[in-house]
Amino acid sequence: EAAPQTCSFEADVSKLLHLMVHSVYSDKEVFLRELISNAADACEKLRYEGVSDPRLLGDDAQPRITIMLDPEARRLAIEDNGIGMSQPEMAEALGTIARSGTRAFMERIAEAKDAEGAQLIGQFGVGFYSAFMVADQVEVASRRAGADEAALWSSDGLGTYTIGPIDPAQAPARGTRVVLHLKEEAAGYTEGFRIEQVVKAQSGHVPVPIFLREQPDAETRQIADGAALWTRPKADITAEEYKDCYRSLAGQFDAPALTLHYRAEGLHEYSVLAFVPETKPFDLFDPDRAGRMKLYFRRVFITDEAQILPRYLRFVRGLVDSADLPLNVSREMIQQSPVLTAIQKGVTNRVLSELEKLAANDPGAYDQIWANFGAVLKEGLYEDFARRESLLGLARFKTSASGDEQRSLKEYVGALKENQTAIYYATGADLDRLASSPQLEGFRARGIEVLLLTDQIDSFWVTAGLDFEGKPFKSVTQGAADLSLIPLPDGQSRTGDAPEDVTRFIEFVKTTLRDAVSDVRASDRLIESPVCLVAADQGIDRQLEKLLAGAGR
Ligand code: ADP
Ligand code: MG
Repeated sequence: EAAPQTCSFEADVSKLLHLMVHSVYSDKEVFLRELISNAADACEKLRYEGVSDPRLLGDDAQPRITIMLDPEARRLAIEDNGIGMSQPEMAEALGTIARSGTRAFMERIAEAKDAEGAQLIGQFGVGFYSAFMVADQVEVASRRAGADEAALWSSDGLGTYTIGPIDPAQAPARGTRVVLHLKEEAAGYTEGFRIEQVVKAQSGHVPVPIFLREQPDAETRQIADGAALWTRPKADITAEEYKDCYRSLAGQFDAPALTLHYRAEGLHEYSVLAFVPETKPFDLFDPDRAGRMKLYFRRVFITDEAQILPRYLRFVRGLVDSADLPLNVSREMIQQSPVLTAIQKGVTNRVLSELEKLAANDPGAYDQIWANFGAVLKEGLYEDFARRESLLGLARFKTSASGDEQRSLKEYVGALKENQTAIYYATGADLDRLASSPQLEGFRARGIEVLLLTDQIDSFWVTAGLDFEGKPFKSVTQGAADLSLIPLPDGQSRTGDAPEDVTRFIEFVKTTLRDAVSDVRASDRLIESPVCLVAADQGIDRQLEKLLAGAGR
């Protein structure tokens, strides 16, 4: 047997550990959720691999997670009979930061003040390393399914860890045991009733049964049954249970703003449990951010990389459990399966129609969802042409007339002025500046509402040639938006050619500026300001121009 080696953590892990060790975060019990979720993931990975290689399951096919307490020794252990880790896998998994979520957390924490930083721990869920909030020594003994050898990882969280082979008798017969030597102030986590309470609240819905042994010589009893919530009839499930399920599934601490639970029957049979979160996740615009829908086959977890929902619905959390996916194919092949294609289509349509329903029945709740995720949903306007009507119907906008409210396009189109044939918009980075822009004067004077678009994404979809109820989108900065056809109220109208002095002035400006401008014109659009700069009729929108310039074009 080789002697254990001492290794240094990757620099980012050291930083993260420093944070955990010195954490003042009060809800330290999230460590338990993180370790249980790892154990459950490991059981699900084994269930999946066991389908094609039943030998991995041996005579121990029932997945389980056991929490073992030893109050006297101030020790808490979590053991699973899942997939386990080989020594190299363990060095990789417990010495580096692989998750993009944890990386994003590190970036946020670097900017945050101390007190905020502590709050972030709970919001992000920082994985395995959270054990060091409550323990000053952690040991992980593991044996990979099908392997003869076992390995032990051990660390005090202060910069280095040791790793090496151990006598397999010291490790679980299959799977992983994580032993926490608790800090003095964390001794409470050896109390059985407390652990039971925390597990039920945080992890009651993990799809693996959880057992508890309160003393080294005590009986082991079951404290959570591992029954998948989504297989139960909707009428029997309380809002509280849905919330708990969302929390353990998403690793979030907020509540769902919208819950979808249904069973699709017909050509393909599958169950869907999906949630729209109440708060905005930190990594929504991280380029690596992928969808968060898990794919199951008859309660066996298959993958969370099946991209069940399009990118513009990446904020939706949940799962699809299919009854008829071809299971004996690789994860890569699943992507090409016509069953998956049908599921993707069905679930996407259903999410959008549920959002429509909510918008109709509870506009206040819907507006909050739009405020959080509208900028993401708008990506669909140019990515998913087939569903653009439904997406335009869901869109809400601040306008020159909406004040603090948001307006739908239906409301906008319902309030068109005489002769108004387009939906006017202005794009810019800042709402207040946009609202007071001279570009809007002519519109305001005529009582024409203008959409005020301040999301980056807005400059892109408006150029996609969309229309709503036959009305095209038109930028206020694009040439002389045809205001002359729309009457000014109470005889403010200025008709006929520009007076002679204006014509002379225009000539003067033209000869002075020459090639710097393509045209100088008198216009109906200004009421108080003497001049404004606009893009040419066929030219590129000014805000998009700025964006592209910023992107180094
Ligand atoms: P995440 O679970 O999001 O991947 P964690 O920090 O919680 O991140 O865990 C890091 C990695 O360690 C996991 O991805 C997994 O590979 C490995 N791991 C942790 N706990 C276990 C376990 N009980 N069984 C098998 N692998 C585990
Ligand atoms: Mg984890």
